[in-house]
This record gives sequence, structure tokens and C-alpha cells, in this order.
Amino acid sequence: MFHSFHYGPSFGELANANSKANSAENKARTAEFDVRRLVERIDSLALTCQAMWELLRKKTDLTDDELRQKMQEVDLRDGTADGRLKSVAVDCTECGRPVNSRRKACQYCGCEMQADQVFDK
Ligand SMILES: [Zn+2]
Repeated sequence: MFHSFHYGPSFGELANANSKANSAENKARTAEFDVRRLVERIDSLALTCQAMWELLRKKTDLTDDELRQKMQEVDLRDGTADGRLKSVAVDCTECGRPVNSRRKACQYCGCEMQADQVFDK
């Protein structure tokens, strides 16, 4: 009688584990690339914001304090002071139905929404 004992993983199991490891490595590399691209984009947006603010401050009598105050006010629009601008449901001015604040137009009546959040559409 012939018995075959396995004291370790079979060739098939090893090949499967190797394939999973390769796939995980590729996913990690893609995620790393995406994060790097996002950081570059955020840096570029921060630079644009800073430049715009410096121009605005120079050409108007607005102050840093007023900017900070406005940032707090805008931050609180979604009900939470968390430094983020989330979309909320706002009532359509025409039909009164709730519409996502990021939409450009009401999905029910087509009425154009108030463009308060110009950077977040
Ligand atoms: Zn509407």
C-alpha cells in the first residue's frame, strides 16, 4: 500500500500563494502611485490657493483673520467643524425637493443650483 504524506504545501498551493503575493504587490504599487499623484495634486492646489489668497489680500483690504473666519463658516455648512467640505442635502429653490449640494442642477426639475461651492462640483 502506498501512502503519500505531505509535510509542507503542495506545488499547487505554493503557486497559488506566489500568484496572490504578486497580485498584492501589484496592487500596493498601484496604490503607492495613486497616493503620490494625489500628494502632487494637493501640493499644486495648495500652491494655487496660497497664490490666489496673496493676490486677493494685496488687492483688497481682506485679512488673514477674515479668511480664517470664512473658512470656519464654510466648514460648518455641513454641520460639522472637521476641516472638510462634505456634500449635504439642500432644498431646491424651485421645487423644494432635497438635492445633493454638489449637483449643478436639481435632478427633479432641472433648476440650476446655487454655486456656493465653486471648487467642489
Ligand atoms: Zn428642483
